[in-house]
Amino acid sequence: MTTTKHFRAVCVAALTVMTAACEVSQDQEVSIGEQTAQEISAQLPLVQDPYVNQYISELGDTIAKLTSRSDLDWHFAVVNSHQVNAFALPGGYIYVNRGLIESTEKVDELAGVLGHEIGHVIQRHSVDQMQSQQKIGVIAMLACTLTDLCNSGLGEAAINIGGSALIARHSRRDEFEADSEAVENVLRVNIDPAGVPALFEVLMAQRRREPTIVDGWFASHPLEESRIANARRLIEQSEADQASGLLQDLPSYRDFKRRVAMLPEPPQPQRLTDPDRR
Ligand SMILES: [Zn+2]
Repeated sequence: MTTTKHFRAVCVAALTVMTAACEVSQDQEVSIGEQTAQEISAQLPLVQDPYVNQYISELGDTIAKLTSRSDLDWHFAVVNSHQVNAFALPGGYIYVNRGLIESTEKVDELAGVLGHEIGHVIQRHSVDQMQSQQKIGVIAMLACTLTDLCNSGLGEAAINIGGSALIARHSRRDEFEADSEAVENVLRVNIDPAGVPALFEVLMAQRRREPTIVDGWFASHPLEESRIANARRLIEQSEADQASGLLQDLPSYRDFKRRVAMLPEPPQPQRLTDPDRR
């Protein structure tokens, strides 16, 4: 597909810059993120609702600005797709699908996801993946690694990835690191980290019930019981489970979710496998 080719061309350009430098500097990381973000806003149905965008940006910024990479210009956006997923680009671009927000019950769960994606950026996981893939020469995988979008028309792929060998898959180690970041990141702003394992439980239950909806998340963020147990252990170690006054929910989160529910229906993916999909 031409959009994919175009996208790959951008990535190959980014790769050329990196090859020259070997190490990816923060400036390069940001410019790769920026270029990819431009592609994404051209290709994906990003939510334009100012209330929704402001809400997620404020929550995301609150968390990101107290991390070790507070100097990045963080961006948060919602993708109008009922598929449950979230992804991060190098340089501080975070995307959360509408479907993930719809799966949450409380603000601490969304905060946990943001804390996790922010954690991938802080740990430079995508950049590191790009570098190691450069070594094995799989340029085509770069687009996938950058965005978790893969292997077909970009818009559709982002909405519904799954089942492809080319899927950007964070390693289990990356996931454990990002979970540990998530717990620390939300605690720093006094949000209850219990939202991290709580949402994982919801996603696991959803996978049993309606697997196609959460394919993308599981494909890009390997999740199994051990991660839930690990997140709970981290929370115990942080003694957050003993702390009082941690924020679990906000009345405004109801309004936010209502607003998300009122968004126009997402554009239909080309290849719809499940006629009952909302
Ligand atoms: Zn992840």
